[in-house]
Amino acid sequence: MSATFDVQNPATGRCVQSVPNAGLAEARAAAKSAIEAFPAWRDRSAYERSAILRRWFNLMIQDEDRLARLMTEEMGKPITESRGEVKYAAAFVEWYAEEAKRVYGETVPSQFTHKRLLVRPQAVGPVYAVTPWNFPAAMVTRKAAPALAAGCTVVLKPAEQSPLTAIRLEELWREAGGPADVFQVITTVEPALVSSVFFDEPAIRKLTFTGSTEVGVLLAAQAAKTVKRVSLELGGHAPFLVFDDADLDLAVREVVASKFRNTGQTCVCANRIYVQSGIHDAFAARLAEVVRGLRMGDPLDAATNVGPLVDQQGHDKVSAHVRDALARGATALVGGTSREGLYFEPTVLTGVAPGMRILEEETFGPVAPIVRFERDAEAVAAANGTPFGLAAYLWTRDLSRAFRVSEALDFGIVGVNDGVPSTPQAPFGGVKASGLGREGGKWGIEEYLDLKYVSIALA
Ligand code: NAD
Repeated sequence: MSATFDVQNPATGRCVQSVPNAGLAEARAAAKSAIEAFPAWRDRSAYERSAILRRWFNLMIQDEDRLARLMTEEMGKPITESRGEVKYAAAFVEWYAEEAKRVYGETVPSQFTHKRLLVRPQAVGPVYAVTPWNFPAAMVTRKAAPALAAGCTVVLKPAEQSPLTAIRLEELWREAGGPADVFQVITTVEPALVSSVFFDEPAIRKLTFTGSTEVGVLLAAQAAKTVKRVSLELGGHAPFLVFDDADLDLAVREVVASKFRNTGQTCVCANRIYVQSGIHDAFAARLAEVVRGLRMGDPLDAATNVGPLVDQQGHDKVSAHVRDALARGATALVGGTSREGLYFEPTVLTGVAPGMRILEEETFGPVAPIVRFERDAEAVAAANGTPFGLAAYLWTRDLSRAFRVSEALDFGIVGVNDGVPSTPQAPFGGVKASGLGREGGKWGIEEYLDLKYVSIALA
């Protein structure tokens, strides 16, 4: 096994940097040191942990230029968005620096006058975290910050496509005064081999994973062998419902923000756009006009809206979805073809219908497929007709409809006239095949806390 591997820039195909390729020995060493470091970290005061997190946050903000550039170079995110992601990622660290001090317990009245019943949250233990390539900073901090705040130690394995940002975050952690064994990043092109060490180790008490449903299911089964706590943030297949009474310009603006962010490679990207027949034609025409104006190009150029797809596999999936839709009768109002390298044109499809792959699977690319509908119930049934349940969006100016539809949608997150609901204070996560547990807000830290019940009988 080679000692290092190359991280490639998807915009140029060139190597950005070589990073260590960990194997079993390195994984065992990381697990051992995380386990040994746990008691001392847990036993520090919440104020000390908070202060280190706060310094980490400040360093991330100061390092925005470098972090953003690394991110763009390793996975092709347009630089303006990379800058936004650094701030978003840092905001989780800031939030949990504050939240560390608010891990309260409870007291419960007993039916016996001589008893005192206490419920005390405590850190679950050393954590193994696995993250995807599409948010190289935010997926790291959304896990690491609450875990570290709670008193857990963390070994984080980033995706092999985008480990450079995670490595930089680890350097900043140390610069902030964070102990090296408390937060470690381990990079490898053998994720199954490296992960097996953590799954076999009973003292690793928690798996937190973000990535595809397929891999999440596999990892959860392995974590079950040693009964670890498990959080899973998995795939999405977000529906975007536009009703006749929607504000057309706002709906178009927000669908573009949701659909084309990160070149369509986010788990909450609008993946299926259902538009009621009264507004359908006007919506499709307006969307096509806006998408025609999106600039595809070098992700390091601040004027670029749409960059390359992350790798050949990602590119080929997008291309296959579009070919399949066109062959089955859809029309491309804009785009529809693949361009040089890993680029795919921003695309708007109309006449999309059930049975097309694009309506069944996550596309993960800059393609907006529009489906016409007549009745509200029809749109809700179509939106719910998927194994996934991460994010859903609806556009209406009717308050009753907004409540009824959002209550009927089987999703963990619903945006009402809001295409970008994710924020550090709110619980992010899915239902059904989109996952277990929540990240963000006061709920995010609970994933890293066990409850200890202490019953005290007075003499
Ligand atoms: P992926 O499942 O291929 O990989 C995710 C991580 O799992 C990577 O670190 C990878 O190295 C690791 N991995 C892969 N196979 C493994 C194995 N056999 N054993 C151990 N580890 C293994 O996903 P991806 O392509 O990196 O990311 C895209 C997916 O992530 C999409 O489905 C997207 O919807 C999902 N995602 C979900 C969220 C969310 O919060 N729900 C956020 C971002 C991305």
